[in-house]
Amino acid sequence: MTGIGTRIGIVGAGQAGLQLGMGLLAMGYEVVMLSNLTGEQIAAGRVTSSQCMFNTARTHERALGLNFWDAACPPVEGIGFSLAGPEQQKLMDWAARLDAPAQSVDQRLKMPRWLDEFEKRGGELRIVDAGIAELEELARECDLVLVASGKGEIGRLFERDAEKSPFDKPMRSLALTYVQGMHPREAYSAVNFNLIPGVGEYFVFPALTLNGPCEIMVFEAIPGGPMDLWNPTASPEEHLEISLHILKRHVPWEYERSRDCRLTDDLGVLCGRFPPTVRKPVLTLPSGAKALGVGDAVCLNDPITGQGANNAAKCAASYLVSILANEGQSFDAAWMQQTFDRYWDYARDVVAWTNGMLMPPPPHMVELLGAACVQPRVAHWFANNFDDPRRFFPTIGDPALTAHFLTEAA
Ligand SMILES: Cc1cc2nc3c(=O)[nH]c(=O)nc-3n(C[C@H](O)[C@H](O)[C@H](O)COP(=O)(O)OP(=O)(O)OC[C@H]3O[C@@H](n4cnc5c(N)ncnc54)[C@H](O)[C@@H]3O)c2cc1C
Repeated sequence: MTGIGTRIGIVGAGQAGLQLGMGLLAMGYEVVMLSNLTGEQIAAGRVTSSQCMFNTARTHERALGLNFWDAACPPVEGIGFSLAGPEQQKLMDWAARLDAPAQSVDQRLKMPRWLDEFEKRGGELRIVDAGIAELEELARECDLVLVASGKGEIGRLFERDAEKSPFDKPMRSLALTYVQGMHPREAYSAVNFNLIPGVGEYFVFPALTLNGPCEIMVFEAIPGGPMDLWNPTASPEEHLEISLHILKRHVPWEYERSRDCRLTDDLGVLCGRFPPTVRKPVLTLPSGAKALGVGDAVCLNDPITGQGANNAAKCAASYLVSILANEGQSFDAAWMQQTFDRYWDYARDVVAWTNGMLMPPPPHMVELLGAACVQPRVAHWFANNFDDPRRFFPTIGDPALTAHFLTEAA
């Protein structure tokens, strides 16, 4: 126990805020959590994510005893990749097992349970939609204020970092469809990732939702393209119809698995878009007090690589180490910047890889993906790098290094 007598305020009860909050409670800190939703409201709300989490992120949860769904949640045992051709054919197709399974637990199930756990472990929960006044109040009563508000409006108080944010508009029109009744993938369960050039991406994998196991369909449509058919006013049934129409038209092998699907529930659908954005991590309030951003609030990625919840977990774990190491000293702006920079040492490669995936793949990436079809070692390397995308670099950043890597792998 190191944090006795130190009080930390957190805005936002999601993956980052709750995981960090419970990490701090375990070390003896006092933690006040401001959430704009109660657990009941989250559980009764719309799906928010597909939240597939890989082993390292899951290890952080396990270390805090927060892995309540290991028995109930179907594992994600591998990654599959297909490149769709214009004639509805597969131009590439490979799959590889993950060394340790990934897992996706619907945040409508996970966060209410974690909120209960947070209070049970001694945290103080306040239900309020925090604005500047609440941040000021928190700053007066706490030694450190953290903002873990995800895509919430309050995060816009943090200045956009133009240097780290190459896109100023949404790169994909996103949709989620939570379903049951899909025919399982043969051999082993996996994220089936389909790249449809000029159209977008579709991936699908098993998960656990409110009423049991399900599959989550994730659509990444190029804005204005043939997959961008989403309509926020569509009924849930219409949303499912659009989903199946897209599969039939662009990835018929996925349609074959999915044709008998039904929605998990009327709120198991989502569509929207946002620009991937990295923000400057330190916020100065009107009083001069400082707050530090955590997770999506300051490092928001497109979901194309399934990294956001993983990042949030890793950011929370990294900040916890920085807070513990700062025992007895003040949490000033310099410390906040260093704390973010330590996390950014990890996140910069995730952001680079994710942003790269939003662009048409350069020839050396196509070669790499093609090599994975015939070289299981390349497929294994690619699939397992989802757990730690730093391992893609420097290889994928330089065609000569990719060529060298492929020669070695062969
Ligand atoms: C379509 C889609 C698919 C995705 N798929 C994946 C995936 O497969 N794998 C993956 O790793 N990631 C995925 N993500 C990303 C992932 O869900 C997020 O990155 C992750 O949830 C971020 O965690 P966080 O704690 O930073 O923010 P959030 O989970 O968004 O939590 C923020 C919390 O703060 C609350 N809040 C906001 N404003 C306020 C306020 N003013 N006052 C009080 N509370 C406030 C919110 O209600 C929320 O509870 C996906 C995202 C989308 C949109």
